[in-house]
Amino acid sequence: MPDLKNRVALVTGGSRGIGAGIAVALARAGAEVAINYRKRADSAEAVCAEIVELGRKSFHVKADVSVAAEVERMVAEVEANLGPVDILINNAGIAQPRKLEEITELEWDEVLTVNLKSVFLVTQAVIGGMRKRGWGRIINISSVAAQTGGAVGPHYAASKAGMIGLTHSCALNYVRDGITVNAIAPALIETEMVTSNMNAEPSLIPMGHFGSVDDVASVAVMLAMNDYMTGQTVSVNGGWYMT
Ligand code: NAP
Repeated sequence: MPDLKNRVALVTGGSRGIGAGIAVALARAGAEVAINYRKRADSAEAVCAEIVELGRKSFHVKADVSVAAEVERMVAEVEANLGPVDILINNAGIAQPRKLEEITELEWDEVLTVNLKSVFLVTQAVIGGMRKRGWGRIINISSVAAQTGGAVGPHYAASKAGMIGLTHSCALNYVRDGITVNAIAPALIETEMVTSNMNAEPSLIPMGHFGSVDDVASVAVMLAMNDYMTGQTVSVNGGWYMT
């Protein structure tokens, strides 16, 4: 099996939850890992410290990934500190549980911008370098909401379904460049996003319990190591949606 030694990973929203789990798992597999966060510097620092404990380099960078200028600065800082990005995990996201009738235009735009536009922006910022080097892995954290509607609302479901279309388009466009692009569709993973959502009940899940961040992280590492899987959506959902 290949490992990820000498590869540089960038995890957006890597300061906690699923992103933090993926960041540490990538470091265990040999990668140097940059942690992006928006608000919680302490949490990002703690994840970096855990990665350094594993003998890998790490770096944390504050940036709102829905803003193009911040994305450009973030990628430049990561490259200056760790080197060019080989593995991009588009994980940052927000979920505000709402019914369609309750969603304001501002809320719709915020969810679509943070969850979907950010994936376009960060991918655009790293794709040129990946193509030049002839190797890259892009892993987009979508959701079961793209497949079933989920437990958050239509704005969230639309943003997560959009990520799958973007995944297919990028996978096809860069299929001859040594770059694979895949999505993971999790549900319901025990993080603050889920424990703060009154609609997210373990009873929604056929297995009857929430998943752990490690359940998702192990799939992300598999996708980072695999050369021949591209354009796929891997479901990690306790049986909620079956393909
Ligand atoms: P979480 O615990 O709420 O963590 C969200 C992370 O995203 C935090 O690190 C946060 O950073 C960061 N973030 C939010 N907005 C950002 C922005 N504009 N720029 C940069 N970073 C930003 O969520 P989670 O449950 O780990 O979810 C991670 C991803 O998985 C999300 O895309 C979510 O939609 C998806 N997902 C989760 C589940 C689940 O069951 N948990 C299921 C399906 C999909 P700060 O804390 O520093 O602000």
